[in-house]
Amino acid sequence: MSLSAVRDQPAALRLLRNVIARNRTPNGLLFWGADGVGKRMTAMEFAKALNCREMELDACDACISCRKAGTGNHPDITVIAPTGRSRTVSKETIGEMSEMASFRPVEGRWRVFLLEDAERLTLPAQNHFLKTLEEPPSNSLFILITSFPRALLPTIRSRCQQVRFQTLRPETILELLAERHTLPREEAQSIALLSQGQMTRALDLVQTEKRSLALELTRRLAAGDDPVLLAEEFAGNLKALRQQVESETAELFETDQGATLTPEEREEMKAARAAVADAAYRRGIVDYLYILQTWYRDQLVYRSLQSPEAVLNRDQTDRLARECSADPGEKIIAIGKARQLLDRYISEDRVFRDLFLSLAAP
Ligand SMILES: [Zn+2]
Repeated sequence: MSLSAVRDQPAALRLLRNVIARNRTPNGLLFWGADGVGKRMTAMEFAKALNCREMELDACDACISCRKAGTGNHPDITVIAPTGRSRTVSKETIGEMSEMASFRPVEGRWRVFLLEDAERLTLPAQNHFLKTLEEPPSNSLFILITSFPRALLPTIRSRCQQVRFQTLRPETILELLAERHTLPREEAQSIALLSQGQMTRALDLVQTEKRSLALELTRRLAAGDDPVLLAEEFAGNLKALRQQVESETAELFETDQGATLTPEEREEMKAARAAVADAAYRRGIVDYLYILQTWYRDQLVYRSLQSPEAVLNRDQTDRLARECSADPGEKIIAIGKARQLLDRYISEDRVFRDLFLSLAAP
């Protein structure tokens, strides 16, 4: 692969090619944007292009440097990713990286460090990294890759050149899905349209039950099932989701350096951990509400346009043709309102009960 294989990121590519052409690389680049839009792949292809021996503005993919990078064996390209049960990057790891960065490249023009999921650098690791950025070693480049740039210290963000990534087109998602999964065409189209331009969301929709569960809820509501019981069932699903994200983030930021932290740092870390767990849980809820909303949105669109081309849930057109609430617009508004109330931390049980009562109205 090469930079030319990067999809749907013209602005980021223009910026990166300018960096190569000027041959004046900022010490830190911050690749940020939604999950699943190609940040990591772009970072690797950029690192290859910087060190390619054949091409000026891209990676040739054939020279010895590109081939080594392609197999993960380039001595000047280092990937740093969260490790251990806590899935963090420690201060020690950043210390080793800074040490490596102080030496000249072994065989390429640039030493490049790719920091994946950079928001998982612990606070001491971030502080250490900041020192490295303040006294930048020559011919070393750090690429921070994150979907949560605000989890990084503002001083780190301001010292890096920011490269923003946008979401992918549905056509691109459809092509990428076809490379990995054999799905019925209409289901693949639905997922591409529902993915909001993120490959990770598309894969989540393929691999989890979220969509089938949400669609099943709308079917049972339309069939006249008790909305209060359905709301309780839904809350039960979310409880399982919360337990899952909490156990995943339980040890986040709590690694080896726990004992050496000041009380303030420990508090800050605790807050950061809670924020990460909460964000993951809320993303899950928003996913469900989003799918519910698309269903009523499709009812509205199908009724007014009578065209399967305009709906997102392409594989549900038969159902859309025979099932339509009296006022889908009201239901869309009710879901939007539920989202707002959840953002204001109103009791979830109450929000869902009210929401399902609204959705059950004819
Ligand atoms: Zn090359």
